[in-house]
Amino acid sequence: MTTRRHAVRQALPELLELEDIIREGQELLRVSVPVHVSHAGQQLPVYALELGSRAPQAPTLALIGGVHGVERIGTQVLLAWLRMLIRRREWDPTYASQLDNLRIIMIPLVNPGGMWTNSRCNPNGVDLMRNAPVDSEERTPFLVGGQRISHHLPWYRGKKGSPMEPENQALTDVISKTLFNQKLCLSLDCHSGFGTRDRIWFPYARSFQPWPAIGEAWALTTLFEHTYPHHNQYLFEPQAHSYTTSGDVWDYLYDGYHQQQPDGVFLPMTLEMGSWLWVRKNPTHLFHYHSLFNPVLPHRHQRILRRHTILLDFLMSALLNAENWLPQTETGRAQAQMEALNRWYPHLESTEPKPIMVSNKSTLLGG
Ligand SMILES: [Zn+2]
Repeated sequence: MTTRRHAVRQALPELLELEDIIREGQELLRVSVPVHVSHAGQQLPVYALELGSRAPQAPTLALIGGVHGVERIGTQVLLAWLRMLIRRREWDPTYASQLDNLRIIMIPLVNPGGMWTNSRCNPNGVDLMRNAPVDSEERTPFLVGGQRISHHLPWYRGKKGSPMEPENQALTDVISKTLFNQKLCLSLDCHSGFGTRDRIWFPYARSFQPWPAIGEAWALTTLFEHTYPHHNQYLFEPQAHSYTTSGDVWDYLYDGYHQQQPDGVFLPMTLEMGSWLWVRKNPTHLFHYHSLFNPVLPHRHQRILRRHTILLDFLMSALLNAENWLPQTETGRAQAQMEALNRWYPHLESTEPKPIMVSNKSTLLGG
């Protein structure tokens, strides 16, 4: 075994797993490496994978994991699903036909340097989900909402005015290149570590106000709940219902998208796997940082790896058949928005979503 392989096997087995999947799916996957991250004497690649239709207007699903290095389970869930997809496509024409008609973009391991050290932040000590040039419009919780005091403390945003961290710039470049010219796209960014339930968060993280696509988010939410009434593990809600933050990359990317496609629909979602449940079942995990974010026991790990398959399959089908659930008329959109406001913002008097503030575009598109 080479030295590199040995070191990676010890510290970052997810990267070897990803490279193994790339070999297995080489006929299907279009692979690029938008950035390498230097860490522990290694050049760690951040892989971006693309599969499915090459048609310019094919609806697009983006799947992201490993933004927070310690939350390894997000990367593992995506890798398990990708391997299933590659194998199933070989014998199941339904999957083959789905992939003929939509495009999937995947960055399953955004922060390999952080995952190497079981750290939330990247090797520069920056929390990538607090690092985008977006300031919260609300009071944010101390430290957790993002801080510029020190990179020795968690939730560090990076120096004010500095460019985004290389991992974030790579993520932003891939998403803006592949999604910003689409009329319809969904994304799911997989995290863990908050609460006892699996949550699906929509924007905004920076504001208690509704975001422009709240009606479409409501339509997708009720489609899932109506289709899977016995699969009520997910709590769909705007992220600010849990807490507000500055520097959220999805707030930033959504604003960039909305500026380019005012009539398009982009629903960025964050899956927050409720790992406190795993901890509650085994309180000794409180003494091990890594196990606060990841299932440790083999049976629980297996269960989490298959737990989100239905959701990922659902997102593919929903994207491909959007005309059957997405509001298509002015009246339909107004109705969906009203339902969304009743569900998530019952305290608001005005039903008009606040106009969004578009942040620093030069950084967004910069290299
Ligand atoms: Zn996270």
